[in-house]
Amino acid sequence: MASAAWAGSGPIAELPADERAARRGARLRELHEASLRLAAPLPAEPDAVAALLSEIVERAVAAVGGRDGRLVLAEDRAWRKLVPDSGPAAGEQGLIRVGRPRLPRPPGPPGQPSQERRRDHQDQQGSYLFRVRWKPDPATLHVLATGEAASVPDTLAASRFGWYPQVAERGIRSFVLVPLQAGGHILGVLTVSFGRPAALTAEDQEILALFAGHAAAALERVRLLYAERRRANQMEQLAATLARVDGAPNEEQALEALLRGAIELLDGDDGVAQLFGAKLGERRLMLRLERGGAPAARSTTPLLPPGSISAAIQAGGPARIVEDFRALDPSAYPLYETMRRRGIRSAVNVPIVAGGKPVGSLHVNHRAARFFDSADLAIAEALATQACAAIERFRLEAAREAALLQLAQQREELVMREAEAAALQRMDALKSELLVTISHELRTPLTVIHAYAQRLQERASALDAAAVATTGARIETSSAQLGRLLEQLLDFTGLERGEVALQLEHFDLVPVLHELLVALRLRPGGDRLVWRLPARLPVHADRARLTQVVANLIDNAAKYAPTGPIEVRGRSVRRPANGACRQERWVRLEVGDQGPGIPPEQQQRIWEKFVRGDLGTQFHPVQGSGIGLAVVKALVEAQGGRVGLDSAPGRGSRFWFELPAQTAKQAPKHTRAA
Ligand code: ADP
Repeated sequence: MASAAWAGSGPIAELPADERAARRGARLRELHEASLRLAAPLPAEPDAVAALLSEIVERAVAAVGGRDGRLVLAEDRAWRKLVPDSGPAAGEQGLIRVGRPRLPRPPGPPGQPSQERRRDHQDQQGSYLFRVRWKPDPATLHVLATGEAASVPDTLAASRFGWYPQVAERGIRSFVLVPLQAGGHILGVLTVSFGRPAALTAEDQEILALFAGHAAAALERVRLLYAERRRANQMEQLAATLARVDGAPNEEQALEALLRGAIELLDGDDGVAQLFGAKLGERRLMLRLERGGAPAARSTTPLLPPGSISAAIQAGGPARIVEDFRALDPSAYPLYETMRRRGIRSAVNVPIVAGGKPVGSLHVNHRAARFFDSADLAIAEALATQACAAIERFRLEAAREAALLQLAQQREELVMREAEAAALQRMDALKSELLVTISHELRTPLTVIHAYAQRLQERASALDAAAVATTGARIETSSAQLGRLLEQLLDFTGLERGEVALQLEHFDLVPVLHELLVALRLRPGGDRLVWRLPARLPVHADRARLTQVVANLIDNAAKYAPTGPIEVRGRSVRRPANGACRQERWVRLEVGDQGPGIPPEQQQRIWEKFVRGDLGTQFHPVQGSGIGLAVVKALVEAQGGRVGLDSAPGRGSRFWFELPAQTAKQAPKHTRAA
């Protein structure tokens, strides 16, 4: 160091020999003392570093009889942690300035930059150790870049580093700069200034250079200590981050834990973590987080910006460091402007790889250029690699759940289709059954009509009036049966399609029933029919349809109960009105027989279309189509009523229906059967 070349030196003042010798001895003692002090072990703590830096400056100034001194440190993570910050933008130049307090000076002229003023203010407060946004002067830059010592022998004269009139204004007439070099790299620059021009002898310079060597060694020890401690911490942090990622309850929180851990580990200012979609250029999830910032900002913008670093990573690109976003070509890098706006200069970008395939990316950014090195890249990669197992687990779980859901949906659809197919099959079977039944039903009365009509034709002259009347009556009965069957069929199809128009009106049911019952009594076996009716039964219904319903029920009773009375009973009943404590008047009509009755398990089903009970089929094959009761139910319900049945095998059946006696509020006059 002593032999270092001195750039920019001018003529150096020489002193008489004896004085020189005395001064030399004093300085060597000073140097010896200083080196002993600096050699003492020092903890990597801000207070200890502050003391060390000021001691270096003070001792350097004292050793060469300077007026003032300062220390500029090259950017290093250690100083970011160990030297206080002077403001949010501090350290952007990557340099740390350390100086002795200057004498108070009158407030600067109006145009003076505020940064400068703040620095002065801090100096006056006696705080002389801080990181600042500071643009290094050409001489300092030269020393930082080359490791050569330098001097400006006269601040009022032009030097190879330019002019220093502002420095001269502060009473500084010359200054010297020595590099602090250790471990093969330049840690910083020590500057000592003097009140007079060309103040240093060659010997002074030598002493200063020696001193700088000791100071650099002390600083390097602190730096290494810090780096080592940081590495140890990093391992702990890495493990803690992985544990948090593993313990996260879902994919998004796992990703956030990974991002938070990565920013902490790499001392980043902010970061982004994202998960890619299945296709190239797609992304599922993006999280952005500021250092120490509360919750992550979440984005589900589905596309990766084409040409971005993440798009390259998704396409299989390698992990990479961006030294300085501002050095990139704005026309080739789509996020140039975004990064500039956010003040981001450098970044570490690594893929999150699962199954050999990039499934996402992790980015840690910093506002300083060239902030990250290959060790940072390695740590980020290690973190992303190990965390991806946990993230992949969530992805697989989600995929499994989606697959299961799809399977369940497919199964449901299959069941539905099967049910549909079964229903169609059943309909098909019913239709053919219906065709058989109907043809059968039609054939019987038709055969009768045909036979009797033929008889009349062939034997017209031989028959007496009574025989003609009997034959005519038989023809009449059979054609009536035929007519009823056709009517039922028509009603049924009409009701099915909702095409039956009802003529609802108020009328007394008693005379209507009377007329019907008297007519039915005239039929063969009609004498079994008995009835019990009150004097009046006002009802709100369709007169013709109601008659049809009663006739159907009586027909069934006659059909299925071959003996015993068929009893028709009508009465007025009270029923609670819908949702009110009020009671409403209804009309209840029952058709009872003493036939075989209906087993409980069939009582519900016989109301369905085409469904016939055992009686209709097995034991006493009674002809029918299985639509009579379905028509009854549909007609009664279309008129606002309800149907029911009380029966037990061997104890007869009592079919009933009830209809409102009054118009239901707001009930339409004309309604369509459902
Ligand atoms: P169908 O009489 O043409 O079979 P319905 O719909 O009128 O069709 O009747 C359905 C079924 O209900 C009948 O097949 C029969 O088993 C049963 N059923 C109807 N009325 C009676 C009754 N009064 N006594 C016993 N069973 C009856």
